[in-house]
Amino acid sequence: MLGPPGAGKGTQAERFARDRRVPRVSTGDVLRQAQIEDEATHRRAKLLMDAGHLVDDDLVIGIVRHRLAAPDASAGFVLDGFPRTLLQAEPLDHLLDDRQPLVVVDIEVPEATLVDRLRSRRVCASCGTPATAALMVCGACGGKLVPRRDDDFAVVQERLRVYAEQSQPIVEFYRRRPTFRSVDGDQPQESVAADIAAAVASVVGGR
Ligand code: AMP
Repeated sequence: MLGPPGAGKGTQAERFARDRRVPRVSTGDVLRQAQIEDEATHRRAKLLMDAGHLVDDDLVIGIVRHRLAAPDASAGFVLDGFPRTLLQAEPLDHLLDDRQPLVVVDIEVPEATLVDRLRSRRVCASCGTPATAALMVCGACGGKLVPRRDDDFAVVQERLRVYAEQSQPIVEFYRRRPTFRSVDGDQPQESVAADIAAAVASVVGGR
């Protein structure tokens, strides 16, 4: 699932994965949850994330390779936040050699909407559930809601710039494929979810 920061990728990927009973693989979540064993690599990744930059391609490719080899991903999976560069998109094709088709759904949202959404985004300090500034406490556990570390205004601008520069080209890389679909992300969550389900079904049917 592709889309700029704030497009609703995480929410939609989670929902789609639940409906289809496949895992959602989010490189951002893995990086935030600090499941990186090497301390120096972990520190470097954290610095880059906090500044709104992308972490090293090799690191995320390794994370995805490892995750997709797990038994629960054998029947399919939803990739959220990967690939983000052409250097990640190319090895992904090789990782999936015998597991095609790779269905690519791009969620499109105008930049002004993205900035508003990113600035009002919150996350539960206890359980990590995403929320918005309109809520007082976490809907899942009642915990305190805080901004995501990388949703600071300057960092938001940087993440959007990095997206346009490094990630927009992968949309063009996939756009020519018959398995590419684009959906309008500037509508209510339910409608976006329905459009995504229809887009995927138009490629692979109900399987
Ligand atoms: P996300 O939760 O997908 O918005 O990712 C949060 C941050 O994690 C990004 O701003 C990057 O710093 C890092 N990150 C996540 N996925 C990738 C990726 N595929 N390539 C490089 N950096 C990534």
